[in-house]
Amino acid sequence: MLNLAVILRESAEIRPAAPALVHDGVTMTYAELDARSDSVAEGLRARGIRAGDRVALQLPNVPEFPIAYYGILKAGAVVVPLNVLLKAPEIAYQLTDSAARLLITWAGAAGEAAKAAADCGLAEVYVAGPVPDPARPFADLPAPVTGSFPLHATEPGDTAAIVYTSGTTGRPKGAELTHFQLYMNADIPDRLFALNPDDIILTVLPLFHVYGMSSAMNIGIRFGACLSLVPRFTPEQVLATIERDRATIFDGVPTMFGALLACPQRDRYDTSSLRVCISGGDSIAATVLDAFEQRFGVPILEGYGMTETASTISFNEGPDQRRVYSVGRPVWGVQVQVWDCDDRPLPPGRDHVGELVTRGYHTMRGYHRQPEATAEAFRHGWFHTGDLGYVDEDGYLFIVDRKKELIIRGGYNVYPREIEEVLHHHPAVLQAAVVGVPDERLGQEVKAFLVTRPDAATTAEEIIAYCRERLAAYKYPRLVELRDALPLSGAGKVLKKLLT
Ligand code: ATP
Ligand code: MG
Repeated sequence: MLNLAVILRESAEIRPAAPALVHDGVTMTYAELDARSDSVAEGLRARGIRAGDRVALQLPNVPEFPIAYYGILKAGAVVVPLNVLLKAPEIAYQLTDSAARLLITWAGAAGEAAKAAADCGLAEVYVAGPVPDPARPFADLPAPVTGSFPLHATEPGDTAAIVYTSGTTGRPKGAELTHFQLYMNADIPDRLFALNPDDIILTVLPLFHVYGMSSAMNIGIRFGACLSLVPRFTPEQVLATIERDRATIFDGVPTMFGALLACPQRDRYDTSSLRVCISGGDSIAATVLDAFEQRFGVPILEGYGMTETASTISFNEGPDQRRVYSVGRPVWGVQVQVWDCDDRPLPPGRDHVGELVTRGYHTMRGYHRQPEATAEAFRHGWFHTGDLGYVDEDGYLFIVDRKKELIIRGGYNVYPREIEEVLHHHPAVLQAAVVGVPDERLGQEVKAFLVTRPDAATTAEEIIAYCRERLAAYKYPRLVELRDALPLSGAGKVLKKLLT
């Protein structure tokens, strides 16, 4: 048997008094986190939740998230993390799709969640934080336990969580992740950046998304480190928390590194406690990576993963062995190949761009209730990532773009990320997202959406001229739109499907 919650139980047994969480300056020890999640497990049992039942969890990064998460797992139930920004119909879809029997939500989402729960006839709803009438407070859920709650004897291949993908390219799909898959992902950093109990992980990546859940929370708990929880990203809040909690590790998505760099107050904070930053979830512009490392004096190690692989596929080992701008090499036990459009393997080299396919312990059981999408993704026994890239002679992976985002302009392939990289070099550009828009003559035209620095004066025409000097005629964007902000997902990724 293997129950993922063993990662918490073991850390609590080894160092009961060590800090597991710090939130708003208040610390919770491993013993307390273990005991409080035991009470949630007992409370769930008392309400008739049995092994395999689904429990939806819609919380920001507050202590109740890990308390409930490990409690659900201990009871043998399946966690269904929901994005806190979802609206009622989206929540209702995920509650129905996952057949959730109970929902734990928070005050900030309670209105939308209550509407959704009513629509799906879900009666068991518990709300953390200031509770609006007539909802039930989360505090009603836990029940007293004598001794410690015996972890349910789940098998390694049992589903531990149904995690919805970010919905960057379409409607989010529920990936069924197993106890073993998540356990193995939590075991990665030992070999890669020597995570240890003295580490304090600044955890602002949402825990409902696979990156925060697996690669910050589970990893931190597995190695007995402390999670410094920040519920909402603002650059000032993150910098102030790094200073206050003396955080040693910061996991982020590229938009976060860009925002920290652009923050006018960045020099007011002492961030010298940081020893390493980790970037994933999206490609980070070389200019942002270089400038961040220079300004903050700390390396950014880039990794690549996805919901379906819970999450890490590849990672750059330690500062000395990394290859900057690459997403590193596949982690232990994970294989990656580059295949052409006829599903034939391609040799290494930047001239051999194809779809990245992967196999190993890390791939999901399948998309929940979507046998066709699952079969399509797992062709010939390999999981097809939908990402285009290549591998170099030493096995380092380079992501070129997503297959779905490739622009075909007049028969020529244009990779949006290549154009975004050029735009990021322009001194006025803060954020850039390039998409293909329909064009009668060419099929698709290249369009750039930009957020510029508040103090910079530039125009769409000037940006187009800048690109024309640096990119081939078929590639440079003919259309440029300046915006105040780009639409971001709950995890901070640019939602390109909303840009047209
Ligand atoms: P959906 O599948 O619903 O369209 P999504 O693919 O954004 O959304 P996630 O599972 O959160 O959902 O993201 C995984 C994807 O993120 C990968 O397939 C890849 O395209 C991208 N990604 C992750 N890490 C990196 C990275 N380091 N560099 C480039 N892209 C990355
Ligand atoms: Mg995806």
